[in-house]
Amino acid sequence: MLPQPISPGRFQATLNDPADFTLSFELVPGRGGRSTVHTRTLDLAQDMAADGRICAVSITDNAGGHATLAPDVIGQEILAMGLDVISHFSCKDKNRNKMESLLYGWDRIGLHNLLVIAGDFPQKGYCGHPKPVFDLDTVHVIDLLSHLNRGESSGGVEATSFCIGVAISPFKYTEAELMMQYYKLQRKIEAGAHYGITQLGFDARKYHEALLYVEEHDLGIPLLGNLFIPNIHVARLMHRRAIPGCVIPDHMFERMDRESRSADRGKKARLERAASQLAVLKGMGYGGVHIGGSGLEMADLDFILTQATARQDQWPDLLAEFEPDTAQGFYYFQKDPGTGLNRKQKNALAKGKSPSLLYHFSDLIHNLIFEPDGYFYNLAKKCCLALDNTILRRPLFWLEHLSKFILFACRNCGDCTLAEYGYRCPQAGCAKYLLNGPCGGSIDGWCEVYPGQKRCHYVLAYERLKSRGNADNFSHGFIPPRDWSLKGASSWVNFYAGRDHIHRQCGAPENQSPPKKSPVSQKKVE
Ligand code: SF4
Repeated sequence: MLPQPISPGRFQATLNDPADFTLSFELVPGRGGRSTVHTRTLDLAQDMAADGRICAVSITDNAGGHATLAPDVIGQEILAMGLDVISHFSCKDKNRNKMESLLYGWDRIGLHNLLVIAGDFPQKGYCGHPKPVFDLDTVHVIDLLSHLNRGESSGGVEATSFCIGVAISPFKYTEAELMMQYYKLQRKIEAGAHYGITQLGFDARKYHEALLYVEEHDLGIPLLGNLFIPNIHVARLMHRRAIPGCVIPDHMFERMDRESRSADRGKKARLERAASQLAVLKGMGYGGVHIGGSGLEMADLDFILTQATARQDQWPDLLAEFEPDTAQGFYYFQKDPGTGLNRKQKNALAKGKSPSLLYHFSDLIHNLIFEPDGYFYNLAKKCCLALDNTILRRPLFWLEHLSKFILFACRNCGDCTLAEYGYRCPQAGCAKYLLNGPCGGSIDGWCEVYPGQKRCHYVLAYERLKSRGNADNFSHGFIPPRDWSLKGASSWVNFYAGRDHIHRQCGAPENQSPPKKSPVSQKKVE
């Protein structure tokens, strides 16, 4: 159920009304405080406000990992035009305290619609590459927002009314990547998300799959289909998989390439395609579309919206244009031979690979020493707590750290989550240190940040947990954020002393309400 906002805007009203079709548009601010790019962006927003069909614009937050004008600055100017604003809120550049103070400010100035994303990995900035922050992940941010919306912040802080949007990327063609995207969506909704926007794509069956998954699992949130209109330069980058999470089928790119050789460099053709795609998304049941693209003007949007309405009834005939290259990839539902979309029958998941020796060894040690019913649990607890206050404290720390560094590339966080990920360390394995991943950027199972070099931590964790039959435990609960005060201390001692994430109370800023713990470590006895 959407929160009762202080000043309900059109965006939330359309989201809330199944009979209404939400139209939003993505603006990507440029660099600097004053530039011709900002003037063009504001002019376009003014045109959309005057036109009235687009009910909200979203404003990106350092898109592509580059430093650009912050969304709240230009957002306030656009709100004053009477157009609703959705502010992208990414995790890549700010820690949890900066996030909270920003949110207090946004609540005050009326920026209540958010799109919470991990964000693209930070790219080159002032004097070299910036530090990738990712102090919180999207599930943490949603939990924080939910606490703020419930007015659980101490000190007489009034409840906020943030409308929390999240991203979902169905354009994954391996089972592990796709299932982890859907599991993460469920966790985000459980934490308090109100609506979803898909990643951009050109595969109608995948768009339909996301809709059906939300329906089949009764997730109960409105979904907007992302409709992106790339010019040939951007299309080329996407086709080269240079933009994280964005996939263009070969046949689609070849057509775009041919079209780009025409006098208008393919502009008319891509607007026509966008009109067809909008009709298809509306026809298959999306509650709205989120339009984006470079160099678009109000006249282009007018053409797309008008043409889409004109061809709305023929949408099933337009499906052929949005087919994937091959049917090779993994789809959650079986194909409907009649429509080319999906039936409600699910495809069988592949059998899990048998776990490695290291996995079996780690699991044995874990069950003997760290599970409360483990044979050596009490002895280990006594020893660790006793040694913690003696000169053997550092030797114990080094015994732990060296053994875990050799086996798991331990990063010494003091708050170990190995058991939750099938004995794979997210601090070492995930370039964004996500504790409730994945992000949306993986490419054929490879990490967005190290394509072709390093497989996505969550793909590996899925395969590991699947081997013991409980990968779907990733679909609920969440791992609390790291407590950086534990860095450099023994995780063993922190565990037994009840200082780590397993025992820690967290959630409400300074209020104590335990989060729903992810039961990933609880064994499912087959
Ligand atoms: S390991 Fe996976 S979740 Fe982490 S940054 Fe890479 S692609 Fe994203």
